[in-house]
Amino acid sequence: MPVEEQKREGKDDARMPYQLPFPADAGEEIVVPAVIPEDDRVWVPQAENVAFRPLCLSASQGYWMNLLRVRKSGVLSRHRHPQPVHGYVIKGSWHYLEHDWTAQEGGYVYEPPGETHTLVVPDGVEEMITYFQVNGVMLYVDPFGKTMGYEDVFTKIDMCRAHYEKVGLGADFVDQFIR
Ligand code: FE
Repeated sequence: MPVEEQKREGKDDARMPYQLPFPADAGEEIVVPAVIPEDDRVWVPQAENVAFRPLCLSASQGYWMNLLRVRKSGVLSRHRHPQPVHGYVIKGSWHYLEHDWTAQEGGYVYEPPGETHTLVVPDGVEEMITYFQVNGVMLYVDPFGKTMGYEDVFTKIDMCRAHYEKVGLGADFVDQFIR
């Protein structure tokens, strides 16, 4: 029976896929079969023993979803978040100098706007991997809040392009993650 006719009759089959076209301006979905990639070149180095793996780089809304991987213990960085951050710890653990809790493997963390913190990977943790959604901008600051640098979705995209070009995946390898 044609869809129009079913609609008139008020029929609704739970297993019937949505029958109408998606909005013309809607973007493409992103499907990443393995967030931990088989090809290590997908990880983009950002400091010694620190790398990120892009999943969704939202140029249209100014946020990025990525895995952060750290293979060293000690201080990673001190930074301020004007916008919220969500984190899910896939492996290892870490904490902030400014808080008395530890983010544990399997745990979730919400960082409210206004947070300034210093990420530390404790001794004995050989590798930590955390899935982070970072919104807007990260401001790298000194202990008194003076901005020393920043990252946003566009600096992330630039780092990906440069790295993927260098390792032979091609600069446009990052395009699949950009929306
Ligand atoms: Fe942070």
